[in-house]
Amino acid sequence: MSDSAADAKLEVKQASKEVKESENVAERYSAMTVSKNTDATVGDLSSAFAPVTTHKAVKKQIQFVTSEDKQEFSKFPTKAGRRSLSRSISQSSTDSYSSAASYTDSSDDETSPRDKPQVNSKGSSDFCVKNVKQAEFGRREIEIAEQDMSALISLRKRAQGEKPLAGAKIVGCTHITAQTAVLIETLVALGAQCRWTACNIYSTQNEVAAALSEAGVAVFAWKGESEADFWWCIDRCVGTEDWQPNMILDDGGDLTHWVYKKYPNVFRKIRGIVEESVTGVHRLYQLSKAGKLCVPAMNVNDSVTKQKFDNLYCCRESILDGLKRTTDVMFGGKQVVVCGYGEVGKGCCTALKALGAIVCITEIDPICALQACMDGYRVVKLNEVIRQVDMIITCTGNKNVVTRDQLDRMRNGCIVCNMGHSNTEIDVVSLRTPELTWERVRSQVDHVIWPDGKRVVLLAEGRLLNLSCSTVPTFVLSITATTQALALIELYNAPEGRYKQDVYLLPKKMDEYVASLHLPTFDAHLTELSDEQAKYLGLNKNGPFKPNYYRY
Ligand code: NAD
Repeated sequence: MSDSAADAKLEVKQASKEVKESENVAERYSAMTVSKNTDATVGDLSSAFAPVTTHKAVKKQIQFVTSEDKQEFSKFPTKAGRRSLSRSISQSSTDSYSSAASYTDSSDDETSPRDKPQVNSKGSSDFCVKNVKQAEFGRREIEIAEQDMSALISLRKRAQGEKPLAGAKIVGCTHITAQTAVLIETLVALGAQCRWTACNIYSTQNEVAAALSEAGVAVFAWKGESEADFWWCIDRCVGTEDWQPNMILDDGGDLTHWVYKKYPNVFRKIRGIVEESVTGVHRLYQLSKAGKLCVPAMNVNDSVTKQKFDNLYCCRESILDGLKRTTDVMFGGKQVVVCGYGEVGKGCCTALKALGAIVCITEIDPICALQACMDGYRVVKLNEVIRQVDMIITCTGNKNVVTRDQLDRMRNGCIVCNMGHSNTEIDVVSLRTPELTWERVRSQVDHVIWPDGKRVVLLAEGRLLNLSCSTVPTFVLSITATTQALALIELYNAPEGRYKQDVYLLPKKMDEYVASLHLPTFDAHLTELSDEQAKYLGLNKNGPFKPNYYRY
């Protein structure tokens, strides 16, 4: 069978599986009302907080992918060997972003947190952050984020007395920001114990990591980790003798990968993996396809409440912010190429067009290309316009979308940046050659200078622009975080047999529930179906309101 045929088959399998699961969960959520706007009526989670059913440990043994993998992970790498090992595991793990929202300047203290013993006020030293004394400042950041994450706060309130995550031991690997801290503290309020590490070497808000450590969460992360530190932190989260996780929350798949390779026995206790990113989900499907996935996994990336909100609206709001902060560029009349017209590309284009930029699109997919045409953009090949454009933004999730040859042909002053997950979209590595001079002109802004004096303005070294150079809207992250929390609750509490060793989408009813929790913010008033209308459309009055194949 060809790869694409196999993929299509897998997709159909996943879709039908979701239908069945959705029916199961729909029963549990049948009491849910999404039609009113008071906190008390947006949804009733009590059914989701049903008693925990006894879970039988997953018995399936992990298989190493190759014998080299087995050797590779048979011992923890030496310091000298760490760099090459980490590269071989994942190119994207240390790629994406640094949070511009970290207000504490830690550059004055060059001591590695690994060499700096620290203790929180309760005497615990089970963490490794830049400076635990920044906790108070981090707490304020978390409190600010809480104000725009009311859905998570309402989940906490609804859990009063009940602890749907009691006994859950969650190991997490995400960006460690104030918004993630609100998620982590929600999981703790729902009964979970958490150990956390960063999915990116630059994204940690040091003061937030400090506040979490002070509050008793074992956090291993700081802004500006080396690659070796990155894997050391993951290892410290998982590799403790007296604490074994039973749930994984991952963003990018590196934590899952590490556990697979280094601690396969841990999977005997794991009830499920919740994965947020396109990249991590791709890896999970590959494992599933190869028959090597040994626990159920929830694909949060493709939940409507993630993909159609985070990817689209987050980027629509933050692309201009990232560009302005770094370059002070004026958008009116500028010629911009956006590579990829998926959710992220659509968000970026809408914002750029609104400010008067002349936007062209590159696409490989005729459907997305046609959408771009109908939305009023010219669809071009990058080579056709490369000499005249003022700005190039990649949003494909692919690699080598902008090549060295194209960088050579750009005009003087062209701004080049990436909004995709990994730093592989622009061939930045090819720019590190002796004939080119790099000049750091601002934080996250490099001028790459050609021998004839031409300068290309490279932002965030080709890493995610918005998350490297601006902040992202808390409210959108609240939607994703609520989806993650519900996915964890669902997987942790699911009776044995509901989820097999495969990748699942969150049932639509839960997507609708997450959306309903965010409606009161806008004082949005949903229309209720009449009995007659519900019968006419063949729907339950409480949802789900769309079939699984509906695309929004
Ligand atoms: P998507 O799959 O909806 O869109 C990607 C588009 O790129 C597709 O339409 C695809 O056909 C096109 N494409 C692929 N290769 C191409 C090429 N060589 N040239 C031109 N077009 C090409 O994915 P998405 O949801 O838009 O996400 C895109 C990337 O952005 C992913 O890496 C994702 O992880 C990341 N992401 C970033 C943020 C952020 O805040 N910056 C948020 C969410 C997702």
